[in-house]
Amino acid sequence: MLNYNNVPSPSYVCDLGRLENNLKTLQHVKMESGAKIILALKGFAMWSTFDLVSQYLDGATASGLHEAQLAHETMKGEVHTYSPAFKADEIEEIASISDHIVFNTPTQLKRFAPIVKKINPEVSISLRVNPEFSSSPVDLYNPCGIYSRLGTTKTNFDETVLDELDGLNFHALCEQNVAALEGVLKAFEEKFGDYIDKMKYINFGGGHHITREDYDVERLIEVIKAFKQRHSSIDIYLEPGEAVGWQTGELVATVLDVFHNGMDVAILDTSAEAHMPDTLAMPYRADVRGSGEAGEKAYTYRLGGNTCLAGDIMGDYSFDTPLKVGDKVIFEDQIHYTFVKNTTFNGIKLPSLVLVHQNGDVEIVKEFGYEDYKTRLS
Ligand SMILES: *Cc1c(COP(=O)(O)O)cnc(C)c1O
Repeated sequence: MLNYNNVPSPSYVCDLGRLENNLKTLQHVKMESGAKIILALKGFAMWSTFDLVSQYLDGATASGLHEAQLAHETMKGEVHTYSPAFKADEIEEIASISDHIVFNTPTQLKRFAPIVKKINPEVSISLRVNPEFSSSPVDLYNPCGIYSRLGTTKTNFDETVLDELDGLNFHALCEQNVAALEGVLKAFEEKFGDYIDKMKYINFGGGHHITREDYDVERLIEVIKAFKQRHSSIDIYLEPGEAVGWQTGELVATVLDVFHNGMDVAILDTSAEAHMPDTLAMPYRADVRGSGEAGEKAYTYRLGGNTCLAGDIMGDYSFDTPLKVGDKVIFEDQIHYTFVKNTTFNGIKLPSLVLVHQNGDVEIVKEFGYEDYKTRLS
């Protein structure tokens, strides 16, 4: 068992054993279904783990130039690059390091596909479509909501781009199980069915919560195989982010102060706003090791961050024993959609990045300091 007093505080501690278990589950899906699986860097971009990730996955999906560069430099396999809109001054570099480029609209495709093909004749061209069906639980994460800017609807589809297309992409899920995918697939085939058999591949996007305990992996495999059968063995891609980093590690923090103001309050050396942004944005309540709901155990505290934002609060948690200065507070499952979104708001120090190797060795792969704050300002 890791002694959390031996890692810097705060730090994200990624357990490579748990990461590899996730990768093995994804590999099982690949082997049994014939689909390719690529990592969505948006959700998990701890590139010190990418030698391991590359052993199992087929590459990465990037949301623009910088993620494409990271994939190109640190991952083996394919680089797929999608952006809601590409910029003229970046598209050539993107083309030179991408294997697949996914456009958001026919307008962007018409404008940039000729340039892309000139730079990299091998590149595959795809269009992201909007199946206008989603059961995404939260509007902030629903790409198929009203007035969505993500993907081309059937109405906006321009058949003159069909000859250019090698594939179609959709991305409509968020932390969901197979039933949600089946709903999206039905809508996708109803709307875009005429085009599917002209394609070399279809990309089913991310949001598949494949590594979650209750995810029906075998049914996913059946759904993919059935789709391939309906469409003459077309290639399928999945591009999960969250499912790769799911439950692979913690955010370790330390209690800096405890006081009473109507209720007990504990200030930690981390921040909900800067280091756990989805706790405020989604919002959701992160699990804290050894804790219960407010009032459930003997000692209840409001856990708050160390910035001046009034709402920098992780939530109210109860513990069996009183919290005291120096105690560790361990937030579970903080490896996906956390450090990829971090900010240096208020000048607060960014948490270190730590790996726990399979033999138990602890490696501090990155520590941050004042320069990381200063160099982003001028
Ligand atoms: C965010 C995103 C993903 C990954 O989604 P997860 O929920 O992390 O699996 C995949 N594809 C696209 C286009 C995305 O925007």
